[in-house]
Amino acid sequence: MAVKGTDLVKLMPKKTGCKECGFPTCFAFAMKLATGGAEVSACPHLSDEVREQVEELLAPPIRPVTIGTGAKALLIGDEEVMYRHEKTFFHQPGIGVLVADTDDAKEIERKIKAVEEMQFLWIGRTLQADLAVLQCASGDTGKFAALVKRAVEINDALPLVLMADSIDILLAGLEACGKDKKPLLYAVTEKNIDEAISKLGGVEVPVAVKAESLEKLSALTEKLKEAGIQDLVIDSGSRKVWDAVQDQILIRRAALKQGFKPLGYPTITFPCQMADDPRKELAAASALLTRYAGIICLSDLSEDVLFPLVVLRMNIYTDPRVPMAVEAKIYELNQPTDNSPVLLTTNFALTYFSVANEIEATKVPAYLAIQDTEGLSVLTSWSAGKFNGETAGEFIKKSGIEDKTKNRKIVIPGLLARIRGELEDELPGWEIVIGPREAAGISSFLPELAGKA
Ligand code: SF4
Repeated sequence: MAVKGTDLVKLMPKKTGCKECGFPTCFAFAMKLATGGAEVSACPHLSDEVREQVEELLAPPIRPVTIGTGAKALLIGDEEVMYRHEKTFFHQPGIGVLVADTDDAKEIERKIKAVEEMQFLWIGRTLQADLAVLQCASGDTGKFAALVKRAVEINDALPLVLMADSIDILLAGLEACGKDKKPLLYAVTEKNIDEAISKLGGVEVPVAVKAESLEKLSALTEKLKEAGIQDLVIDSGSRKVWDAVQDQILIRRAALKQGFKPLGYPTITFPCQMADDPRKELAAASALLTRYAGIICLSDLSEDVLFPLVVLRMNIYTDPRVPMAVEAKIYELNQPTDNSPVLLTTNFALTYFSVANEIEATKVPAYLAIQDTEGLSVLTSWSAGKFNGETAGEFIKKSGIEDKTKNRKIVIPGLLARIRGELEDELPGWEIVIGPREAAGISSFLPELAGKA
């Protein structure tokens, strides 16, 4: 629930003619504050108490929490909408793998390495998991600390979740990796909250909170907040898929629609504890991913499970307001020469990668001319007037392709055979060839065209 400027105005000092904040009136300053265009510190006349009140009102409804540091750090939370089409989802959930200190050394190494090494190149992006969840399953402090040290040795940039029942064991794990790694400590519960407050205050790493109900969870987060421990990640405790999904929805709704601060935190979920079969675990993880999970902990990383999950995540967490587009330019594929043909299409990312992959697979040297259609696909851009004989002709003339190849064949998408006449008028001297309707047809079409060239 976004704060209204009028709510902030009531808290302003209302000094006439002051302007020290850089705005002509307190009213103007309050309005700017509400839209994020000013900092509360710009007004020197607010008491500490009022400043805190204003900061509380301006705080995002779901607190952003960062796990780890550096380029691989995982930022979760800070979401603004229930549904992606309302705006966009901002911070994709982290996908982690559970590694227990009772696993054998080879298994530990395999799982931790897989977080970084199991990668999928998909529509120009590298998709992979994000973090390791290190679990003290042995109850042995030394064993757990050794696991944490080993994880850091294998990959010291990897964001970590340290998971133990005892606060002392968590602190031993924290010492093993160093506070500066900013791992997430899992978990504070009803049983250990007093000990957690006395021992974790001032530690300055994020902390996970687990309870058996949302009411109890709210009470715990409030108590931690009062104690100054604010970077929280919450676990509703449900380990049945439907219950867990419902909790995620209730938490998101409470934070965004009711402005209920005690549940205004990102969540951690455990599909690894909801199923004993990889397919069921994938189904649980997918359901939680689509419904707001902040962290998704898997029992293992296999290509069969991770690939569909990271593709689903990419699809949900791309901004629907921004089409997926690649740079409009001439791409040189398979080392084209000054007699290679030109294939023309749009800069919709999926179109580009489908066509480029097919051309590369044929091994036929070619130029791929990618026209700026604002990320729209072939037929959509044609119906929007962005991809026709006139725009394509203009693009080809300005692209510099005439200096790269003496071959005067341009292949246009088969779906747009209708623009051939217009394009011939725009590009005298070029032969306009109608290509396949689908990218898959390039595998037979292009070698045949090259044979004729
Ligand atoms: Fe009002 Fe503070 Fe700005 Fe002065 S500095 S005009 S008191 S908001």
